[in-house]
Amino acid sequence: MAYHISSACISCGACESECPVSAISEADGQYQINPDLCIDCGACAGTCPVGAPAQA
Ligand code: SF4
Ligand code: SF4
Repeated sequence: MAYHISSACISCGACESECPVSAISEADGQYQINPDLCIDCGACAGTCPVGAPAQA
């Protein structure tokens, strides 16, 4: 089950560089996770200051 970024995201960008498979991208100020690339490592959740990434 891939991680998803919830509406709690404050678009700080901290998670993007932490993802080992570059599954996180930003478009129009919104960060999102490509579920086809995400390997469920949890690195983004561990980095996020507001706990926005979570498994669906
Ligand atoms: Fe990337 Fe891991 Fe977060 Fe998936 S769980 S988006 S692989 S950092
Ligand atoms: Fe959003 Fe958290 Fe990623 Fe920052 S680290 S862009 S708040 S999901």
